[in-house]
Amino acid sequence: MAAVTREDRAEGHLAGLERNVLTTTVERMLAWARSSSVWPVQFGLACCAIEMIATTTSKFDIARFGMEAFRASPRQSDLMIVAGRVSQKMAPVLRHIYDQMLEPKWVLSMGDCASCGGVYNNYALVQGVDKIVPVDVYVAGCPPRPEALLYGLMKLQEKIRERARQGGSR
Ligand code: SF4
Repeated sequence: MAAVTREDRAEGHLAGLERNVLTTTVERMLAWARSSSVWPVQFGLACCAIEMIATTTSKFDIARFGMEAFRASPRQSDLMIVAGRVSQKMAPVLRHIYDQMLEPKWVLSMGDCASCGGVYNNYALVQGVDKIVPVDVYVAGCPPRPEALLYGLMKLQEKIRERARQGGSR
């Protein structure tokens, strides 16, 4: 058996360290945890909400992204998925719920109606939910399929992690 010197051992330990030690920043760790456990507030407004609900079923499995915990309270939520058209009457309620959510928080506009009024170009509907709340991700479609919503959620995850890389929390 070949002799093992102290230097050999030290080199072996260092090689092991390189394989087994990970370095990062607290901000990146937080962003990774946040982006992997975004909890949406229950907020379905119209037909798009049916597709959002379908996203939680086993076929599409939103739980893979840690986002299956739709909360009934805005105080336990950090994502508002605006799924469907927003009427003028609903607008102040939507804003109120958004204000009750804790920071950091995000908004995803799901479907053409939520993003720009869609086919409802009339006075009864808000022509884009970004007139009421800041929107982070828009998902196009009428309605968008669950896969499109999942893609939008992955884009949101990227955004959360990217902002942490740039030094921001939101
Ligand atoms: S985008 Fe289409 S499916 Fe979604 S709320 Fe509007 S009309 Fe309904």
